[in-house]
Amino acid sequence: MINETIQALTIAGTDSGGGAGVMADIKTMQARYVFSAAVVVAVTAQNTIGVADFMAMPKQLIDEQFKAVADDLKIRAAKTGMLADVPTVKAVVENIKQYDLGPLTVDPVMIAKGGARLLSEDAIQTVKQELLPLATVLTPNLPEAAELTGMTIQSADDMLVASKQLQVLGAKNVLVKGGHGSSNNESADFVLLEDGNSFWLTSPRVETNRTHGTGDTLSSCITAELAKGQSVEEAIRIGKQYVSATISQGIQVGHGHGPLNHWA
Ligand code: PLP
Repeated sequence: MINETIQALTIAGTDSGGGAGVMADIKTMQARYVFSAAVVVAVTAQNTIGVADFMAMPKQLIDEQFKAVADDLKIRAAKTGMLADVPTVKAVVENIKQYDLGPLTVDPVMIAKGGARLLSEDAIQTVKQELLPLATVLTPNLPEAAELTGMTIQSADDMLVASKQLQVLGAKNVLVKGGHGSSNNESADFVLLEDGNSFWLTSPRVETNRTHGTGDTLSSCITAELAKGQSVEEAIRIGKQYVSATISQGIQVGHGHGPLNHWA
């Protein structure tokens, strides 16, 4: 007898260069021994140097992908990544409400490291009002947390206040990623759990340009662990460890911001 394989779903955009988006999500979940299904909501033309172009999928095709997955698979946890624009965010919200996909991790992807906008400015409000209330775990970096709260986030105290505001907006558990802001040689993330408990997660800062898809990898690892039935706290701790391992042993692919090493 074969036991049913644990299945999770990514709802995100592709990366033709293989390092971020849906590709990073599938590689991460595979490395965590979780089967990954994918609802593709946008297709990007990009590589390690940058994003050349992208197109969001029509609503009908998004709806049909959700239906195809829900009709056949048993999804235990899901995540969202790049959501492109207002109609796409709305289509995704509608489908998440319609199907039982388990705990949802929302990575509020806005701007790629190379500077390309992956979520239109007017869609930030839609994410805030309609998607955040569905999030079991929300994983913004500092610029994303600032956009969603309207705050300037410069200190550890600011991260704490921002995470509380994000909970008020409806996210149950919040992980504010400090990587973009820390000036010393540690990267410090702040976690505020649903029950009010909170803690810092620190890791040594690695000097490397192979960090393409870091956020996708973290949120996918959390999703995979939630699919296995881990607690939110444990899933977040494992996610942080996994990302640190994949960053510290980079691989040589492309000429720009290289991808992570999922064999690490
Ligand atoms: N492309 C897609 C489709 C993504 O989902 C993301 C991040 O979520 C990126 C690119 C950006 O990757 P990075 O900023 O890590 O280079």
